[in-house]
Amino acid sequence: MKKLENLDKIVNLCKNRGFIFQGSEIYGGMGNTWDYGPIGVELKNNIKKAWWKMFVQQADNSYGVDAAILMNSRVWDASGHTASFSDPKMDCRNCKTRHRADNLIEEYNKKHGIEDMKVDAMSKEEMYKYIVENQIKCPNCGKCDFTEIKNFNLMFSTKRGVTEDNQDIIYLRPETAQGEFVNFLNVQRSTRAKVPFGIAQIGKAFRNEITPGNFIFRTIEFEQMEHQFFCKEEDGEKYYNEYKQKAWEFATSVGLSAEHLRFKDHDKLAHYAKAACDIQYLFPMGWNELNGIHNRSDWDLSRHQEFSGKSMLYLDPITNEKYVPNDIEYSIGCDRLVLAVLCEAYDEEELEDGETRVVMHFAPHIAPYKVAVLPLQKNLSEKAKEVYKRLQANFMATYDEAGSIGKRYRREDEIGTPYCVTIDFDTLEKGTVTVRDRDTMKQDTIKIDEIEQYLFSRLTK
Ligand code: ATP
Repeated sequence: MKKLENLDKIVNLCKNRGFIFQGSEIYGGMGNTWDYGPIGVELKNNIKKAWWKMFVQQADNSYGVDAAILMNSRVWDASGHTASFSDPKMDCRNCKTRHRADNLIEEYNKKHGIEDMKVDAMSKEEMYKYIVENQIKCPNCGKCDFTEIKNFNLMFSTKRGVTEDNQDIIYLRPETAQGEFVNFLNVQRSTRAKVPFGIAQIGKAFRNEITPGNFIFRTIEFEQMEHQFFCKEEDGEKYYNEYKQKAWEFATSVGLSAEHLRFKDHDKLAHYAKAACDIQYLFPMGWNELNGIHNRSDWDLSRHQEFSGKSMLYLDPITNEKYVPNDIEYSIGCDRLVLAVLCEAYDEEELEDGETRVVMHFAPHIAPYKVAVLPLQKNLSEKAKEVYKRLQANFMATYDEAGSIGKRYRREDEIGTPYCVTIDFDTLEKGTVTVRDRDTMKQDTIKIDEIEQYLFSRLTK
């Protein structure tokens, strides 16, 4: 499996072909914000749909919610975010840039082939000592002259209230998970769900990251797809392993190759956690977290019980046992997954005529457009538009009549359209079209009436 060496080609392709643009670009941009364009929004929506299908639609016992981004501030006290949702920050005294100490160490270790160090288990003092002893340099100016490490809270705060003197600080949620926890009782009662059951959510989260970057890998505003699975304590390990498998299955189902994925256990567990691991993906900048799976015990529901005063006890209708359920959390960044999918799909292929084609080998069910309709010549456009209209009823379709057919195929390859339907003179005379496969570039001649069936059988996932 080929691996992309750097992100530049992806960033350029995304800009030129309408996947992702710099946020607020005409004003000079807004650092680390990105806007999805016409092609990117289709790709992202398809990924979200695929996730929802696997974690809600096809799960017998999972339910979706869409909770508010702004929550009662007590939620963040209960979750521990107010007190300790922070990263170790240090400033370069020379060039005044700000850095995450753990990231500086990880980058240094990657360069020097040091793989067995447990950076996330280090204290601030240990990190500082390691940076000084190894003369780890500021990535901006190359000097090793840092301030001491301080904890920096990553939550974005804003103010709620109509008068200046009556303002309460509220936060943009830094994760979607709390929207699932605070609705545990509502979902359980309204659906009459029996433990074990799950709550899923897709939504925006915001983090004032110290060092955002690598395109959409780490941004200050991003989407998460999170699933909490509530179970009995003694079943926690079983479901933790099940969700590890399910998370892996999902990653490969959207096209990521198993060679570019690996599990990584956390070196340091939170005091309440029983187990935690990430799935990492081999991005162009190295192995990095794609998603996390955690056995969080009964910590979250117990904390909300304590802070809200509402009982989170579940009464088992068969055994009459009463307990606060344990939680297995699976959390994946949608944008980070989009980046992985883009990196995986990107390919430059040498063709027989010596030309190179850029092609995005997206899994068909997540490809932005499923089919492009291309009249061989302009005077076939009436018939072609008729076919296009018909296909639009069932598929995300596009139409292109500008330029040579070869150029049009290249354009569709670059946005990963799996099938191109070409309308030629045989279409008028014999009622046939040719369908070109993006990956093999082979063409099939089929009857107009068979196109839908042809596409359905190849696209459904
Ligand atoms: P990291 O170690 O990369 O900062 P994390 O361990 O803090 O991530 P979680 O809090 O577990 O991340 O969030 C769950 C998922 O949300 C991550 O696996 C990642 O895919 C995504 N995510 C987290 N922070 C960001 C961000 N700033 N930008 C984009 N995606 C993010």
